[in-house]
This record gives sequence, structure tokens and C-alpha cells, in this order.
Amino acid sequence: MYHHIKKLMYTVNVGSPDPRFGNMLLEQFGGANGELAAAMQYSIQGLNCDDPDRKDMLMDIGTEELSHLEIVGTLARMHLKPMKKSRESAEVDPLIAIAGGGGVGLCNSMGDAWTADYLKITGELDVDLRSNIAAEARAKIVYERLINFCDDPGTKDALQFLMTREITHMKAFTAALESLGKKPFSIGNIPPTPGLVDEYFNDSTGVGDEGETDARGPWNVGGDWKIVESPELEQGIEAHTGKTVAKTRKNEIEEGGKTRVKKSA
Ligand code: MN
Ligand code: MN
Repeated sequence: MYHHIKKLMYTVNVGSPDPRFGNMLLEQFGGANGELAAAMQYSIQGLNCDDPDRKDMLMDIGTEELSHLEIVGTLARMHLKPMKKSRESAEVDPLIAIAGGGGVGLCNSMGDAWTADYLKITGELDVDLRSNIAAEARAKIVYERLINFCDDPGTKDALQFLMTREITHMKAFTAALESLGKKPFSIGNIPPTPGLVDEYFNDSTGVGDEGETDARGPWNVGGDWKIVESPELEQGIEAHTGKTVAKTRKNEIEEGGKTRVKKSA
């Protein structure tokens, strides 16, 4: 059951309306990382959720996002208002001014219609929670950019509130994911192929124009990692020439003068 209360979740004040900024705000109204997308993603995930505790959280946050939608819509409307009367303001976005009468529609800042294709709903709770953590990170950075392009203190104040709540949600989704007690990288039920899962394919090789070379870090060395040098390229050359390249046997790879045995799956 949904219930509307005739009060905004956070009071908004706009000093001087800026139609161009109002147009940018629509990104958080009907855009890919906006409030409607967040509200629908979490609420529909909640509807599908068999875990009553996490379902409660999804419905709490999904419902809060609808209240955020109302705040962003109110804020955007205040900034777009001059389009109703001023020709100069209307030229900022003729679609909003002429087709929309200077009000907000479910479009992004470029006038593209909102679409359910924005939503990530898999029906697998831990996978959905990962999507939600990423969605909150995207929403946070969009609010930050809006704040950076805004010089109206009242607008900035409301955006700071909305940006903060996204981090709050990110914290809740992260804690909910951790509380499922799943092992790291354990998704679904079928285990990944041993050996292959730990192979890092070095598929971007050579030296770039700016002197860029192959990087090493915790994403490819240490732990169980094994670096495999450009396997597709080597296999491709082999297929064409019948020769092995930079290696002595099929499963050996030369690496900085040293030859090591490639672990076969
Ligand atoms: Mn939000
Ligand atoms: Mn959020």
C-alpha cells in the first residue's frame, strides 16, 4: 500500500531559478541513475524477495527513493518555471517548454524517455544487492557533479541531503550483502572451473605512445593469481603459421627470460 503525505521529505528553497540547471537536474528525475530508476529497481526487487528481512529493507529504501523523486521533481520544476513565460528561457529546452509546458516529464537531461531497461533485477538477492551498491555509487557521483555545477545555496542544500542518503543506502545494501554470509566471489550455485578462475589473461600488451607498459597489482599478482600472456593472440598466430610463439612448448610461456609452465585447466 502506498500513502502520499502532502509534505516534502526535505524542504527545498530556490533563490534564483536557472532553467539550464533545471534541465541538468532531470538526469536525477528520469535518467538512468535517477530516483525513479532507484525506486522501481528496489521496490520490484522487494516484491520478488523471499527473504522477509531483506525484503523489508528493499521496500523501505525503494519507498524513500520515491520521496527523493518528489524532491528532485519539485526542485527541477522551480528551476524550469521561467520557461513558462520567457522566450529566452524556453530556448534552453524547447521540448520541456513547448511540449511539456515548462514542467517535468519522465525524461533525462537530453529528453530521452525513461525506460525500464535502466533497471537491474535478477531475482538473485546477492546479485541484486551488488547492482544496488553500484547504483547508489552512480547516483552519488551524479549528485556530486550537480552540486559542483550549482551556485544556488538552497538547491545545493537539498542536493547535499539527497547525495548523503545515497551513501546511507550504499551502507545498508553493503551490510545486507555481507550479512548473507556468502563466500567472496560465490555467485549462484555452480562453482567456477578451478585453475581457469585464477588465470589473469594479459590481453593488452606492448608499450604505448606515452610509455605505458603492462601493469602489475593485486588484480593479477599475489594470492592464487597466474598471469597468462595474451592467450588469444598466441593461439591465433599458432593457427596461422603452425609455429609456437614466445614459448617452447604448448604449456610453457616465456616471461622476462624465464620460462614457466602454464597451468592447464
Ligand atoms: Mn535517492
Ligand atoms: Mn538511494
